[in-house]
Amino acid sequence: MIIRDALLEGLDFLRSVGNEAPAIEAGVLLCHVLKCHKTFIYAHDDYKLSEIEYQKYWELILKRAQGKPLQYIMEHQEFMGLNFKVTPEVLIPRQDTEILVESILDYASDLKDDSIDILDIGTGSGCISVSLAYYLKNSKVKALDINLKSLEIAKFNAQKNSVLNRIDFICGDIFTGLKNILTSGENNNLFDVIVSNPPYIASHEIDILEKQVREFEPSIALDGGMDGLDFYRAISKEGALFLKEQGLLAFEVGIYQAEEVCSIMEERYKDLKIIKDLSGIDRVIMGTVRK
Ligand code: GLN
Repeated sequence: MIIRDALLEGLDFLRSVGNEAPAIEAGVLLCHVLKCHKTFIYAHDDYKLSEIEYQKYWELILKRAQGKPLQYIMEHQEFMGLNFKVTPEVLIPRQDTEILVESILDYASDLKDDSIDILDIGTGSGCISVSLAYYLKNSKVKALDINLKSLEIAKFNAQKNSVLNRIDFICGDIFTGLKNILTSGENNNLFDVIVSNPPYIASHEIDILEKQVREFEPSIALDGGMDGLDFYRAISKEGALFLKEQGLLAFEVGIYQAEEVCSIMEERYKDLKIIKDLSGIDRVIMGTVRK
């Protein structure tokens, strides 16, 4: 089987199951198997695949046809111009979340402090922690997650992007995790910035998410409780205790949640600011702690 025919076969099959970009995806999967750049497969489309390469390619085409996200198949997603490993243990980093990171980078560029202490709650793949540590050379980050396996991925990503020495990884939920920080004996346990892209889908809405998300992404990273706002309530309350004077809390929010999250934050935070994503949806809320 030569590359040209394998691509056509894969394309036809992916198209038949409703894939929206079958040609591109068949090419991406074949490159993944051959460990080559996409220019190779077009410049050498008469290259004869070995039996093993062809078999491997079809395994991936079938996984994709079943709806497994391309990022989990490739174990890779780019975020803020950096490379991240992703596995089904962690949420796939989204472009919307880049708005959250960029908002914090903007905010930090105005800070006069020599060092910036950041806490990332629910770090998942580590995309927020790692990119903040990467772009803010004077930052120290604590990355908190309830799942040990996602912390391993996040750690791997920190190492991959050369910021492992500036991130501490802490396992725990919001309450125990923060308590661990408090009792860790360090005296710098207050933060300039607390950031979180928490699970924010209302439990009853998980079932109506698109299949790729619903069946393949970890529900623990999606489920925000009855109305989707559980984590905003908990983090707003607990977070206030861990922020320095003038410290900032920054959230990513789901569609139509901005107003409710603002009203949750209002009691403990001032100067609330809403930032829109590239589609014009209110995506980030940030505010300064009232202390
Ligand atoms: N912080 C990670 C991200 O933004 C994980 C978020 C989550 O699991 N809800 O992708």
